[in-house]
Amino acid sequence: MITRTLEQIHKMAGGINDISAYESVEIQGVSIDSRSISSGNLFVPLNGEHVNGHQYVEKALQEGAAASLWQEDIENPPEGFPLIIVKDTLEALQQLAREYRGQLTLRVVGITGSNGKTTTKDMVASLLATTYKVHKTSGNYNNHIGLPLTILSMREDTEAAVLEMGMSSRGEIEFLSNMARPDVAIITNIGESHLLDLGSREEIANAKFEIVSGLSESGALIYNGDEPLLKNKIKNIRQTRRVLSFGRNDTNDLYPLAIRQGQNSTAFTLNAASDEFTIPVLGNHNVLNALAAMLAAKELNVDGASIRKGLGSFQLTNMRMELVEGSRGEKIINDAYNASPTSMKAAIELMEGMTGFRNKFLVLGDMLELGPQEWDFHEKIGELIDPGHITKVFTFGQLGKAIAKGAAKKFPSGHVLDFMDKAELIHQLRMHTSLNDLILVKASRGMKLEEVVHALQKQK
Ligand code: ATP
Ligand code: MG
Repeated sequence: MITRTLEQIHKMAGGINDISAYESVEIQGVSIDSRSISSGNLFVPLNGEHVNGHQYVEKALQEGAAASLWQEDIENPPEGFPLIIVKDTLEALQQLAREYRGQLTLRVVGITGSNGKTTTKDMVASLLATTYKVHKTSGNYNNHIGLPLTILSMREDTEAAVLEMGMSSRGEIEFLSNMARPDVAIITNIGESHLLDLGSREEIANAKFEIVSGLSESGALIYNGDEPLLKNKIKNIRQTRRVLSFGRNDTNDLYPLAIRQGQNSTAFTLNAASDEFTIPVLGNHNVLNALAAMLAAKELNVDGASIRKGLGSFQLTNMRMELVEGSRGEKIINDAYNASPTSMKAAIELMEGMTGFRNKFLVLGDMLELGPQEWDFHEKIGELIDPGHITKVFTFGQLGKAIAKGAAKKFPSGHVLDFMDKAELIHQLRMHTSLNDLILVKASRGMKLEEVVHALQKQK
C-alpha cells in the first residue's frame, strides 16, 4: 500500500490548505470506510447518494486513521486533526492514484471486455505470480472508485499489477486506462451487457476500445479477434504498439486446436505449442480467457513452463461457474454471479458438452439491464437450447418467461417450466433431480439465484 508523508500526499492529491503543522505525519494506505480503518490510513470521505462520508471523519481519525481528506464546500471540519482540504474528495482520490501509479516502476496489465474480466484477471495474475511480485484487483473493484483503491493498495515493490476495468458508459474506460497506464491491455470480448446505456454493440466496442488511450506507446493490445467490431478498430492503432489476437478462429494469432472437457477441468491444445494445457475450470469460454492470459504473460516474458504451471494452479473467484455438490449428490454449476446473453450462451454450450450425467437441467433467470430488446434476447437464448443435450429447462422471473417461450418451441411439453416464486422453483427442482444429475444455475446478480444453489446443498 502507499506509504508517504502527509506533505507528499498533500501535493499528490492537490491539497489547498496549509498543513505545515502535520507535514511529517506518516500515511500508510487509504480507506474510504470508517468501519475498516487500519492504523496510519488516510481516510477519504466520499459523498455517496445516501451517505456523506464526512460525517465519519472524526470516527475514522479516532479509530486510527493518521489523517483525512476533507472537501472544501463541506462545513465544520473537525479541528485539531490533520486534514487535507481538497476541491473534491473523489477526484483527489483518483488524482492520488494516478500520481502513485506514475511513481511506481512496474508493469501493468489492464483488462476490460463484456465478460470474463475477473476470470482473465485471476488467470493473468496466476501466470505472472510464477515470475513476479504481483498485485491484482481484489474481487470486482474495477470502477472509478475501485481502481484507485486497488492502485493505492499496491506495495511499492510490486513488479506486475493486473487491473480490471469495468464500465457502464462511454469515457469511463478511457479515464481508468489513463489512471492505470497499462503496458498490456486485454479486451476479452464484446457482448450485450450495458446495451441499455450504450445503445448498440458498436458503441460497446468503442467503449471497450478506449482502453488503448492509456496504453503505453510501446505496449501491447491483446484482443478477441473473433469479434469483427474489434478487428475493424485495430487498423487505427499506432505502429509502435504490438497487436495480438486470440479466439476460436484460425485467423487469430493464438487459437485452440482441440478442447477436451473434463468433469472439473478443461484441457486444450494450441496452434502455437505442441503440448496440451489444462485449466482447473470448466467451459470453452474459459479456454479463450486462458489464451488472452497466456499472450499477456508472454508479453511480460514469462517462460513456457511457468505459464503451464500458472494455468494449472489458478483459482476462480466465487460463484463463477463453481462446481458444487447438492445434498443428494447431484452436481451443480453455480454461475449465479451474473449473466448476459454472451455468458448465457457460453454456459449453455458448456452444459451441452458435459457428458456422463443421467439428466442435465438448466435453471435460468432474468438477464437484467439489456434495454428495449430484452424480451428478444431472452427468447433467443431459449431457442438455442438443444433438447438433444438438455433434459429440462426451469426458468425464473419475468424475463425468464421469454426464455421459457423460446425453449418451448423445441422441447416436448412439460419439459420447460417457468417460475416466479423461488420456493416453488426449489421445491420442483427437488422433485425432479437426484444423484448423477447436473444442474446449471445462472442469472443476473440481482436475481439472487445462489439462494437456489444453497437450498439444494442443504435440503434433503
Ligand atoms: P463483471 O462485469 O461482473 O465484472 P466479468 O467481466 O469480470 O464480469 P467474470 O466475473 O470473469 O466476468 O465472469 C462472469 C461470468 O461470465 C462467468 O460466470 C461466465 O459465465 C461468463 N464468462 C466468463 N468468461 C467468458 C467469456 N470469455 N465469454 C463468455 N462468457 C464468459
Ligand atoms: Mg468482474
